[in-house]
Amino acid sequence: MPPTTSASHAAKLSALNAALGLHASAFEVEWIEACESSNSELLDRDLPGDDRLPVLVVDHQRAGRGRRGRAWQSFDDGSLTFSLLWRIPAGSSAPEGLSLVVGLALARALEDLGVAGVQLKWPNDVLVHGGKIAGILIELVARQGRAVAAVIGIGINLRLPDDVHIPGQATVADLRRELGERTPDRVSLLAAILGQLRGLLETYALAGFGALRGAWEQRNAFANLPVSIGSDAEATVGTCIGVDEDGALLLRTAEGTRRILSGDVSLRPAPGGQA
Ligand code: ATP
Repeated sequence: MPPTTSASHAAKLSALNAALGLHASAFEVEWIEACESSNSELLDRDLPGDDRLPVLVVDHQRAGRGRRGRAWQSFDDGSLTFSLLWRIPAGSSAPEGLSLVVGLALARALEDLGVAGVQLKWPNDVLVHGGKIAGILIELVARQGRAVAAVIGIGINLRLPDDVHIPGQATVADLRRELGERTPDRVSLLAAILGQLRGLLETYALAGFGALRGAWEQRNAFANLPVSIGSDAEATVGTCIGVDEDGALLLRTAEGTRRILSGDVSLRPAPGGQA
């Protein structure tokens, strides 16, 4: 079924343009009622003909995806879910470290809205007081063997149902619990995130992740803590000492410093706190 846009979405778009102010001309935003996954929808489209960043916001995502086929759960008015397509500038080091840049943009947007205790969990999670508040899924568009664009999918919890249970996630967070009456509506939240994304993606395109590394490390949820990486059968255990210039995780292990490159592994506190 093709995505649908309604009059209320048109009203949201004009409110969004007003909230974006000077940033508005940088984006081409479409707001639809429902689709399977906003990432899948953007991945199916042609690359844009101009420099604007296509953004697809969806009220109801029927099959939101996380990494490795995992599911992202959203709750219509209680969530903000959208995807943005970013062309990878030729000659840049992107997409190395891109998921960390996106996490940083989310963290800064939340902080600007007054949220305290925002932290980042390598490579792609945003936590508030230890609970996961947002998920990021980055998928690459390749042409002739080269990544030419990234589809950046973002889901944020605004108001989770009181009895929510999310498989595989012991602690979750939402904005309502953090901000109470100051909880922004989806339009204001989206404007705050898009503004941050625009600025940070520009810095990243020009200077690589290295320019943002310090800002990421300031929010590293596991700084100097024992962590375990990978599956139980093949876990690497060490102390998280930060991230490298390219976004690789740096672990101090008994054998020396290890760089963990693959963004496809999950980081966990080490069992029993051992490193
Ligand atoms: P992890 O978060 O365990 O490190 P990951 O980074 O691979 O894993 P993602 O792909 O970012 O995970 O997101 C999918 C996971 O996020 C799901 O497996 C589920 O545990 C969790 N999740 C799904 N929906 C929500 C939600 N609305 N809020 C918080 N967490 C969620």
